[in-house]
Amino acid sequence: MPEVRGVLDNPLRHGEFGLLERLRLARRMRVAAYDMAIVLPNSWKSALVPWLAGIPVRVGYTGEARHGLINRRHRLERGAGSTIAERYARLADAPGEAALPDLPQPRLAAEPAQCAATAARLGLDGDAAPVALCPGAEYGPAKRWPEEYWARIAGCLAARGHAVWLIGSANDTGIAQAIAAAVPRGCRNLCGRTTLAQAIDLLAIARFVLTNDSGLMHVAAALDRPMIALFGSSSPRYTPPLSKNAEVLWLELACSPCFKRECPLGHFRCMREIQPERVEARLAARLPPP
Ligand code: SF4
Repeated sequence: MPEVRGVLDNPLRHGEFGLLERLRLARRMRVAAYDMAIVLPNSWKSALVPWLAGIPVRVGYTGEARHGLINRRHRLERGAGSTIAERYARLADAPGEAALPDLPQPRLAAEPAQCAATAARLGLDGDAAPVALCPGAEYGPAKRWPEEYWARIAGCLAARGHAVWLIGSANDTGIAQAIAAAVPRGCRNLCGRTTLAQAIDLLAIARFVLTNDSGLMHVAAALDRPMIALFGSSSPRYTPPLSKNAEVLWLELACSPCFKRECPLGHFRCMREIQPERVEARLAARLPPP
């Protein structure tokens, strides 16, 4: 993102308190002498580091009673920005400011030479018209389309002459192995074999992306790839892929969105009833043959 000048990695896992790590991170931030911190999460501990770093203006939603830690506080008003991106964008204005202008969509810039080098390094440079499948979702199984459906789509794409790349983290390896095992030729399991930067390069050169609602979905949207995003227990009204090239398949059942990690009703109809035939038809309509 050309707008981002530097990145400090947060070493803490979701939910971890890690006071010592937070103090270390605050020390690094203090050296940079930032004028303002915008704290996106609502948790108390997420506001702690900018306060410890002595950043004078700390902006965020009041969240978990963060009076003092956040000193430019916004109130979350229902309906005042339905997507999470709009809620975050509001933090750039003064609290209580009127309507948001049209927001630009986030964009990641990919370097073609670097993408080609990444493909070559992973032995993918001879692959024809690759389609990226992202079958994982860290959040939990309620956001994952069933393995056997992925396998069917992977088989179809391979039969049409596309190289199929399964992209995800090491945590998705098992799911990806099961999918690749069901497709005799043309399907590569790259889960856990790439860095995040390499995964971004591969998504940037994929002809098409099929994905669950996951971090990689947002990456593919920011790369503006033609894509289909499958939503189950979450809502595309809240965290949609921000790209005009993205098509969302979501059944909007009465129980959906439940935002649960596992189906509380046990039937998982929100994902099971997005039949692979429907996805196949949309792919056939949108993805030219190689
Ligand atoms: S309760 Fe409904 S939305 Fe939630 S996981 Fe089950 S089927 Fe999906």
